[in-house]
Amino acid sequence: MENFFWLDVFFIFFLGAIFGSFLNVLAAELEPLVFFNREERIKKKIKSFWKRINRRSRCPHCAHKLREGELVPIFSWLFLGGRCKKCGKKISPGYFLVEFFSGLTFLGFAYHFYSLKGSELNLFNWWEFYFFVPIISSLILIFLFDLKHKIIPDLIILPTIIYSLFYIAFDFNSLTFDFSHWLDDIWRSILFALPFFALWLVSKGRAMGFADWKLIFLLSLFLDGTMENLLFVFGAFWLGAFYAIPALIFGRSKLKTEVPFGPFIILSFFIVYFFHLSYGDFINIFMV
Ligand SMILES: [Zn+2]
Repeated sequence: MENFFWLDVFFIFFLGAIFGSFLNVLAAELEPLVFFNREERIKKKIKSFWKRINRRSRCPHCAHKLREGELVPIFSWLFLGGRCKKCGKKISPGYFLVEFFSGLTFLGFAYHFYSLKGSELNLFNWWEFYFFVPIISSLILIFLFDLKHKIIPDLIILPTIIYSLFYIAFDFNSLTFDFSHWLDDIWRSILFALPFFALWLVSKGRAMGFADWKLIFLLSLFLDGTMENLLFVFGAFWLGAFYAIPALIFGRSKLKTEVPFGPFIILSFFIVYFFHLSYGDFINIFMV
């Protein structure tokens, strides 16, 4: 850890929080693009996506425009005690939580790249990490979207899959494309996504969670092999069960209310990827 300086830790965490703050806005502003077609958007007088993205953040209660000091991710919310500076009404901790966990997620990925490259790595030659940032951002967006609306928009996941196919083929040492392992990764991803795709097809999209085959395909691309991939897929089910079983017992949700599966898939991926875990590691825990 000696080269993983605290300054780097803070920088990466804060970079993640800034992205989190932007992704909060993006998730909300993408909604009309996902749920309405062009005609409906004109009818409902929804302003263009770019105009909505570029306008200044406002207090949700009094529409007070936030100034510089009120726009700092995490810190503004903390220092203002989670309240609007002007009207004093409470601002949802959701914004703060997304910023905070985006920061942690960035740190997790940075640690992954650090532990692969060791001391060669410093903030300015982390090209591989910075090129991974669009993928991390996309995963956070998918997480937020699935949690709120129980869908994973193609608008987000399809471009991410295309970008990722290029990403995994790119060799960041020689700065060239290397397609020699490319097909292995793609075949493995298809293999793991296939059962979910089949169930989704058979159930005509009604079976819980199986529509997430695209997400399983996408994330499998980044794993090192079958054992990592196994832990990733099982892990998603276990995390889902840990959440869903108590929720069912204590009556907070019914089987009919769909539990979004995407967030558990993403969480499981984070855990496996950050720490390079494989199914073998997991078995060892119980053997010792
Ligand atoms: Zn206000």
